[in-house]
Amino acid sequence: MDRRKFLVNFGRATCALAIGGVAYRIVSKQLNPEEAGPLTRYVWAIDPEKCNGCGICETACVRNPSAVKAVNDQKKCSYCVVCYGHISNKDIESDKIMTEGIKVCKYDAVKRQNYSGGPDGSFIYKIDDKLCTACGKCVKNCTEKGTKSMFLIIRPDLCLACNSCNIAAKCPQKAIDRVYIGPEDDFKGEYSLENGGEYI
Ligand code: SF4
Ligand code: SF4
Ligand code: SF4
Repeated sequence: MDRRKFLVNFGRATCALAIGGVAYRIVSKQLNPEEAGPLTRYVWAIDPEKCNGCGICETACVRNPSAVKAVNDQKKCSYCVVCYGHISNKDIESDKIMTEGIKVCKYDAVKRQNYSGGPDGSFIYKIDDKLCTACGKCVKNCTEKGTKSMFLIIRPDLCLACNSCNIAAKCPQKAIDRVYIGPEDDFKGEYSLENGGEYI
């Protein structure tokens, strides 16, 4: 190899290494759950008016557990004694709900907290996002029989912002779309549902 060819090949190899290094840093950051987040100005989002809680969000996400989580909008919730997203045997006596109620969530992620008035008073329902796998059962029940306060969201701080969202491709309701977010938006922690009180 003459000197000119050697310098050309050396230059190409150096460029390839530099590009590879940058790409690796971006990809490895996105694959790290602690650092993953949207690098683009678009995020994937679920339209709660179209979603029927079919359960595909639990299994179709490239992340495991899914980047989708259920939330309960306290402004829409009726604080019912019996919550359709919490238990399925709704005719149960109110003081037996916690001991004999059949939980809708197999992971017990729907938490019930007495707000006031004893067993027939008001109850706050929160979803423990660390337990939720996005199976959609609580959302389906609340949507069909309740106030539609429970719904599924794609957490921007968990989502890898795939170029083509695998859930969107499989969603039978076509409920998932890309939405624009401004550079000022930072969703990190916005949906944090840390236990602020003592659940019963
Ligand atoms: S796949 Fe679509 S309809 Fe099914 S739970 Fe997810 S967003 Fe809802
Ligand atoms: S029932 Fe499913 S969607 Fe609802 S909190 Fe439990 S795991 Fe999440
Ligand atoms: S964009 Fe990727 S990581 Fe985000 S919800 Fe869809 S499949 Fe999951």
